[in-house]
Amino acid sequence: MGILVIGGAGFIGANLCRYLLGRGYRLTVLDNFSTGRPANLEGLALELIEGDICAPPALPGPFRYVVNLASPASPPAYQSLALETLAAGSQGVWQALDIARRYGARFLQASTSEVYGDPQVHPQPESYRGCVSCTGPRAMYDESKRFAEALIINYAQRYATSVTIARIFNTYGPYMRPDDGRVVTNFLSQIKRGQPLTIYGQGEQTRSFCYVEDLIQGLERLLLSTEPGPINLGNPQEISMLQLAQTALEVTGGRSPLSFKPLPPDDPARRCPDITLARARLGWEPKIPLRQGLKATWEYLQWQIV
Ligand code: UDP
Repeated sequence: MGILVIGGAGFIGANLCRYLLGRGYRLTVLDNFSTGRPANLEGLALELIEGDICAPPALPGPFRYVVNLASPASPPAYQSLALETLAAGSQGVWQALDIARRYGARFLQASTSEVYGDPQVHPQPESYRGCVSCTGPRAMYDESKRFAEALIINYAQRYATSVTIARIFNTYGPYMRPDDGRVVTNFLSQIKRGQPLTIYGQGEQTRSFCYVEDLIQGLERLLLSTEPGPINLGNPQEISMLQLAQTALEVTGGRSPLSFKPLPPDDPARRCPDITLARARLGWEPKIPLRQGLKATWEYLQWQIV
């Protein structure tokens, strides 16, 4: 059974491809390597095609499933690739849907907790409509994903394509780029280099971190289901950035001091998924505690950092 993984050379893709290969699927990966890396898929028995989903090359179908992970995803990456991010979430998703329709494949889109913006409802259920600025510094990502969701739902109605949408909350693990600018990679890189941990603002803002192995099991369940989504996939264990820094230091034995930096504008104050729907519909919930996941991430990342 063939699966096309678009954006498969990125962080989530690298983990998902390994998992799906282990489950016996035949994989084709399309990636433009804007933030993904060919090295993430080195040695894997899959077909890797370089190309942009906004203007896709000929692909060796048929496919039973199309999984679209293609987008820059860390704030510094999507801010420096602003127009590319907007194109990926609009043109790119449209092209990906066309490929799924051509083969009668089921389509899964990686959406994001950023559709909730700086949430005023806590934790966030799928029914919450969000608090998003359409002109702010995160708009290129948040709004492109919101557009993508609207496109997918209307496309599915028009063409009877089987679709689903995963709203992915903060995820971490092996195959993240050490320099991607997200908080887990920043802290671990800083510990490795003996530098201070950069805490933005007072560090009281919260996130809920899901280990990637848990996430990909959720993605597979969603793919194999008939659920249309959107459905939250994330770990409901919420912590502040100060607590995260403390935990990262404990897990790694690091001794870096803390260094407080200005809070970037529009940085969400709190974020935590309500995963009632994922539990009920997919029988899924995360299993791996933060300390265990951080340890595994450290094992990988410390050798990537010079
Ligand atoms: N953050 C931080 N130090 C860093 C990088 C990020 O304190 O070196 C904070 C950031 O302000 C945000 C949280 O960590 O509140 C998560 O940031 P990240 O970029 O990982 O993802 P986000 O959830 O904001 O998209």
